[in-house]
Amino acid sequence: MSVLESMVQEAASVAILGHIHPDGDCVGSTLGLWNYLRREYPQIQADVYLKDPSEKFAYLSGFNKILRHGEEKEYDLCICLDCGSEDRLGEFACYFRNAKKSLCLDHHVTNTRFAQVNLVADGASSACEALYEQLREEAVDKTVAECLYTGIVHDTGVFKFSSTSSRTMEIAGKLMAKGIDFGEIIDGSFYRKTYVQNQILGRALLESITFMDGKCIFSAIKKKDMEFYGVTSKDLDGIIDQLRLTEGVECALFLYETGPQEYKVSMRSQKQVDVSRIAAYFGGGGHVRAAGCTMSGSIHDVINNLAGHIAKELEASS
Ligand code: 5GP
Ligand code: MN
Repeated sequence: MSVLESMVQEAASVAILGHIHPDGDCVGSTLGLWNYLRREYPQIQADVYLKDPSEKFAYLSGFNKILRHGEEKEYDLCICLDCGSEDRLGEFACYFRNAKKSLCLDHHVTNTRFAQVNLVADGASSACEALYEQLREEAVDKTVAECLYTGIVHDTGVFKFSSTSSRTMEIAGKLMAKGIDFGEIIDGSFYRKTYVQNQILGRALLESITFMDGKCIFSAIKKKDMEFYGVTSKDLDGIIDQLRLTEGVECALFLYETGPQEYKVSMRSQKQVDVSRIAAYFGGGGHVRAAGCTMSGSIHDVINNLAGHIAKELEASS
């Protein structure tokens, strides 16, 4: 029996947490586990807490059951998925701290092992892939498969990032065999964009700037631009991926303003730069090829600070 399943069997109540700014892997893994528990352990009271998940994941079973605001409550077990550090639990960290037992199931190389039991599969493409390995294959039904497939699709950029392994594809195949509409999951949750999402993407690409002889590219969106287009941070998905695909670019940076002199930074690299190390240096984290952090200062300051670290990484790898 898996570690997850043996811990679940001793609990009467389970809180399932993800991370702030939940992405596809976070929503997919938390709801995947919730649907699994509902089917296999209907006697357990299981709740998913996520702050402001994107409506594009509303097709996932249980989406409308996600709790968005916390009140004091003590669970027997708290399971944190796709979350590399306690601060990323955001306002729901109280459930983690109050729970009798805690388990973190994650795939971030920067994971701080903050729970009592930590299963960190840093070679796995996604938390959904790591979660699948903890479940009994025959008990994974179509609703669970839709969730896990969604997470894998999002964290692998539709099966293309370097974290995609033959095992990832094998699991995706097994999930497909559960009868999911895989094409619609990919189009509907990953590629489809609203008109304003396309506009802000266009604007970010138009204003992007290359530096270090075209090896790096960055773009930044100010708060006032987000207000002008009527978008929130959830509408900015995909911008960093397109910047990353610019020919000749090794490292792509995308910033959006979160407060006065404060920016959320997304970083992606192709082959040389370990962006997880740079993000961790600035208090964030992530993976070798995809990471993020929050930085203060002007756009100019932020890019200058990051450029120094990127240059060092490039030097070290050449
Ligand atoms: P994204 O750029 O798509 O927001 O994030 C890329 C990866 O880095 C994701 O795996 C995400 O969980 C991680 N990440 C992004 N921002 C932060 C952060 O501020 N702290 C930590 N620990 N991880 C982050
Ligand atoms: Mn993930």
